[in-house]
Amino acid sequence: MSEILYSSTNLKAPKVTFSEALIKGLAPDGGLYMPEQIPQFTKEELASLSGKAYHEIAFAVISKFLSDTIPSSKLALMTKTAYNFDVPLEKVYDNKYIMRLDQGPTASFKDFAARMMGQLMQYFLQKEHRKLLILTATSGDTGSAMANAFYGLDNINIAVLFPETEVTARQRKQMTTLHKNVQIIALNGKFDDCQHLVKQAFNDSELEYLNLSSANSINIGRLLPQAVYYIYAYVRLCDIKKGDEIIFSVPSGNFGDLMGGLLALKMGLPVKKFVVSTNKNDEVPVYFASGNYKTIVPSRNCISSAMNVGHPSNMARIVSLYGGVMNEKGEIINKPDLERMKENMFAISIEDNTTRETIQKVYNRHRIILEPHGAVGWEGLCQYLAIEKEANKPAQVCVSLETAHPAKFPEEINNLLNIDPELPKSLSGLEDKEEKFDKLINNYGDFKKYLIQKYHV
Ligand SMILES: *Cc1c(COP(=O)(O)O)cnc(C)c1O
Repeated sequence: MSEILYSSTNLKAPKVTFSEALIKGLAPDGGLYMPEQIPQFTKEELASLSGKAYHEIAFAVISKFLSDTIPSSKLALMTKTAYNFDVPLEKVYDNKYIMRLDQGPTASFKDFAARMMGQLMQYFLQKEHRKLLILTATSGDTGSAMANAFYGLDNINIAVLFPETEVTARQRKQMTTLHKNVQIIALNGKFDDCQHLVKQAFNDSELEYLNLSSANSINIGRLLPQAVYYIYAYVRLCDIKKGDEIIFSVPSGNFGDLMGGLLALKMGLPVKKFVVSTNKNDEVPVYFASGNYKTIVPSRNCISSAMNVGHPSNMARIVSLYGGVMNEKGEIINKPDLERMKENMFAISIEDNTTRETIQKVYNRHRIILEPHGAVGWEGLCQYLAIEKEANKPAQVCVSLETAHPAKFPEEINNLLNIDPELPKSLSGLEDKEEKFDKLINNYGDFKKYLIQKYHV
């Protein structure tokens, strides 16, 4: 198979190979990288995946996009290293399931993307004898997922800035107890200040020699791994020979998770519908209903805080998948095929009170604990099934994604259910580990000096 190239959603940058897209992150024209062709799964290939382990399915999916740029034996080892945890499909009733994507080292679905991206980056950097310094700002969760994913890898250092007083003690300890190639910096400022310092460093030509990379959520290396769990759920729960179709509900913020699902669909997965469930940041449900896309500035604060996004950057990718162009400001330059988008997706916004009621309802009826993000997904599915009678049959397989562990939201869960959710193994035991981090004041000159002293090449 010839090598798949990656082009920018803004269509004004040269096409690049996978490894270039991975290391670059953002295209030079400000667009996001997309595969030029989407590889296909035949029915026979999909059938052959049933019964395979998660990491084997990850290998089958990701290898199709890499077209032999990584030897099979190496890639197989990488997927096995990245996915060394369970991916439970929990029955709620009939053929309705939740897929728990919360069993990774930081108990959020971001582990799926970050861990594979770490493996991929390490491989290409070693091969090209290059080093990279990942620089990232965090308000809590992303930083720990990234730090855990890059921990112990060769050729990569990672420095994470966090606002000293704005993260919880547990979030801080998830980062500061790692050590090795992970450097954590507490800033006496706000999250925006952290982000501002990181941006300044990226734009500082005197720091070019450090090979800075953001490895942020728009990286293609984080997108491809997010196609895998849709295929995994399908082959576990459905029978392709019988022509089964599946329905997914995806709690969405920046729409990377959903974009992974759409890639799986375009690869040939028989998906009847994606329910796109958002909180009150409802720019996409409004777009589907009205045809007008308007970003929400500033984004609205909801209890499903990881989904408080007023302009999802992956919308540019989704628009491109349906033949349109959206620039980074959220302006539609070329209209996508909205009718076809609506055939594939049903978008719905769920407000906080309904989310809270859902957590109670699901616990009372089914003895299953959801956290706010997963509850938005589940409620979106319920509302879709209530409207779409034809889909609302006991035999119809539906899977709602649970994107974080309930123990990450102890106050909310305790208020609603009077239960203290048990900490997963990955989050417990942090108290006994040694914390190490540096403190900086909010000043670019100091930050720059710090980087130069710490990371001489
Ligand atoms: C990031 C995140 C989401 C949203 O995923 P997107 O890919 O940004 O749509 C949902 N739930 C949790 C817990 C998250 O951390």
